[in-house]
Amino acid sequence: MSFDEQSVTSSAPAGPTLLSRRAVLFPDATDDQWNDWRWQMRNAVRDGGRLAQLMSLTLAERAGLEETATIFRLGISPYYLSLVDPDHPLCPVRMQAVPVKDEARIRKGELKDPLGEDPKRPVEAIVHKYPDRVLFLALDTCSVYCRHCTRRRITKGGEAELNKAELEKGIEYVRTHPQVRDVLLSGGDPLLLSDERLEQILTPLRAIPHVEMIRIGTRIPVCLPMRVTESLAKLLRRHAPLFVVTHFNHPKEITPEARRACELLVDNGVPVENQAVLMRRLNSDARIITELNHECLKMRVRPYYLHQMDVAEGLEHLRTPIAAGVHIIEQMRGWTSGLAVPHLAVDLPGGGGKVTVQPDYVVERRPTETIFRNYRGESYAYPEPEETDCTCPYDEVWRARPGR
Ligand SMILES: *Cc1c(COP(=O)(O)O)cnc(C)c1O
Repeated sequence: MSFDEQSVTSSAPAGPTLLSRRAVLFPDATDDQWNDWRWQMRNAVRDGGRLAQLMSLTLAERAGLEETATIFRLGISPYYLSLVDPDHPLCPVRMQAVPVKDEARIRKGELKDPLGEDPKRPVEAIVHKYPDRVLFLALDTCSVYCRHCTRRRITKGGEAELNKAELEKGIEYVRTHPQVRDVLLSGGDPLLLSDERLEQILTPLRAIPHVEMIRIGTRIPVCLPMRVTESLAKLLRRHAPLFVVTHFNHPKEITPEARRACELLVDNGVPVENQAVLMRRLNSDARIITELNHECLKMRVRPYYLHQMDVAEGLEHLRTPIAAGVHIIEQMRGWTSGLAVPHLAVDLPGGGGKVTVQPDYVVERRPTETIFRNYRGESYAYPEPEETDCTCPYDEVWRARPGR
């Protein structure tokens, strides 16, 4: 057991202490300051010494802070820190924000570039792995450095120099590759850019005729919800169709502030999706994922992927067996709204891309029928039709229509 959790098994109940965490941690902050994202960034906790002044740390955390200090960035916004349970090292917010000793241990087989992206970077800012879409690395900084980050070779600083010239080259790459109809801005967290800088990336991208849609991968609604202002929401809406893809991992992160941020985006016409990462002992339980996705849907955020943890350096302690994820999906499908059931995705180590896994409901395939089990384990037959020609003759006409 790597956490010295024995000492804290009888922790105080979470509720009332958490409500006053802001007052305890940042007693001098006015409401105006607290709600100002730039104040939050200026006051983010960026070293172990400062963190130790603000909360009592376990031995594993103290060792983690020390041993990862030179390897990965540390950064926790005051807002996200105020969600940390100071009495329990396995608090899901704490586990995502505070490094532990295990993170400094790189196991055999773990990769610096687990998704094999670097060979697929024609220019610094672009990862082009799939036929019709690219990942656009817009910024290498974050409001909170997730302890489970899979792209920390980029966010650790230094390696990806995402300066103005590199961004220009990224835009030029998209412009000269007509097969790219979907651009996923990521990083780092692109919404840490000022409205002005963001506009300078979105406007030229939007002007490219073959770019049908834009997505922005961001943890801002989770870690720095005050960044979502009316003017940001309106800016994003102007570049529609643009989807915000965010990253809530536990229902504890869905606070009134986070809800306000997501609802402001959706109210302004910006659809929001959620990608969660499955993490051992943090959210590796069907009840947690179900509650998380119900809470997302209540604020009109659509659950998208549930990611199997990548085989990235220092993350072994957070990885779940594949079967655990499949079991979670199995406990959701049929039992709750289909909209709440995510796709379980495994991004294959070495660059194979994402594949999805699901419980197997097919019991037997016969020429005339397929035998299924349903979510309750009951058996049902689906009869095959007599005719099997699936070509669509009108498609010729449709494809030849004028103006296409
Ligand atoms: C995940 C990912 C995408 C987007 O994949 P979707 O399945 O379309 O959401 C695009 N490019 C890269 C490199 C990715 O890792």
